[in-house]
Amino acid sequence: MSNMDALLSEDQRMVRDAARTFSQAQLAPHAAEWDKLGALPESAVKQMGELGLLGMLVPAEWGGTRTDDLAYALALEEVAAGCASSATLMSVHNSVGCVPILKFGTPAQQQHWLPRLVTGEVIGAFCLTEPHSGSEAHALKTRAVLHGTGAEAYWVLNGSKQFVTNGERAGMAIVFAVTDPALGKKGLSAFIVDTSTPGFTVARKEAKMGIRASDTCAITLDGCRVPAANMLGQAGEGLKIALSNLEGGRIGIAAQAVGIARAAMDAAKAYAAERLQFGAPIEQHQAIGHMLADMHTRLNAARLLVHHAARLRTAGVPCISEASQAKLFASETAEWVCSKAIQIHGGYGYLEDYAVARHYRDARITQIYEGTSEIQKIVISRHL
Ligand SMILES: Cc1cc2nc3c(=O)[nH]c(=O)nc-3n(C[C@H](O)[C@H](O)[C@H](O)COP(=O)(O)OP(=O)(O)OC[C@H]3O[C@@H](n4cnc5c(N)ncnc54)[C@H](O)[C@@H]3O)c2cc1C
Repeated sequence: MSNMDALLSEDQRMVRDAARTFSQAQLAPHAAEWDKLGALPESAVKQMGELGLLGMLVPAEWGGTRTDDLAYALALEEVAAGCASSATLMSVHNSVGCVPILKFGTPAQQQHWLPRLVTGEVIGAFCLTEPHSGSEAHALKTRAVLHGTGAEAYWVLNGSKQFVTNGERAGMAIVFAVTDPALGKKGLSAFIVDTSTPGFTVARKEAKMGIRASDTCAITLDGCRVPAANMLGQAGEGLKIALSNLEGGRIGIAAQAVGIARAAMDAAKAYAAERLQFGAPIEQHQAIGHMLADMHTRLNAARLLVHHAARLRTAGVPCISEASQAKLFASETAEWVCSKAIQIHGGYGYLEDYAVARHYRDARITQIYEGTSEIQKIVISRHL
């Protein structure tokens, strides 16, 4: 038990320990194989659902396992330390799959989707990014046009979505589209789309540098007909919905970064204790000992920023800057820690046979998605 544990509640420790036991036993031993395969098996996702990891932001009344934001961050760190791709699935599903329906859904939409989302029976995806619209998230070209009236009314969606996490596996996707081009940012709306709807197709599964077992897809919407009742929130609320869980989403990715870095740190510590050079374990060479000390210190600093932002969020204190600081610092730290872990492994660290090469590849995405490091700095500087 580290001394940081003393600040956790009994419930938070229990959630963390359950996630750790699961992740180390069921995810970590297979993460390298899944990375090579480029896919997570259904059985792993099912187990995550059974353990409650896929309903962590939804209250018990919908069958969810929500306790607080720190418990969620702790669980994500644990899952990421075992398998970063599983943490990506978990983060997107919880944060931008379940939460928008919880916050903006009608009772009928909540009733239809939430009980199946929290168990993992249905996995969620979030389709905001487009080929020409990334950091400038509102510059969408996907168009939704209303046909018919009353109970017969439906929207027809046409366009291309890029970088959709869980794109192949998802049964439900929240899709953002332009409903009134004359209104600019206020002319965007969100739709809950059953991915079996004709016209919703996976155009391509991307080949990636890291988190390879997470399916990232290009999606084509071609005459995709969505009942009017599937609009999420009001017409024109698309951008508000898209940006509504940035705090939570960024705390989640920051926790994922800490988890990946911790796995690399643990591997480096173990290797430094057993690798002999010049008649001694390399950890006894001061350069390596100091490298480990720096890694440990920066990793703890990153974790504290994550916990601080999560605690503020649980307390209902606005923390958009703190969430960005946690995401910025944890993701940059993760890349740095993973790079040092490779250095400590020498040439072996450069081989795919050792986990640190995968951790380094996996860590890199945390500086990009849910807002790049450059975008986090814009947010932080605006709040100074
Ligand atoms: C593996 C993966 C999974 C993803 N999952 C999802 C998902 O599930 N759903 C979804 O909607 N999206 C998803 N994304 C998209 C992700 O959020 C975007 O890639 C990210 O926001 C950056 O957008 P972009 O790639 O278009 O880069 P761009 O916005 O084109 O940025 C390119 C570079 O310019 C910089 N830049 C841009 N604007 C500014 C500015 N104003 N000031 C300074 N620098 C700037 C950026 O920081 C970056 O360095 C995913 C991406 C990846 C790679």
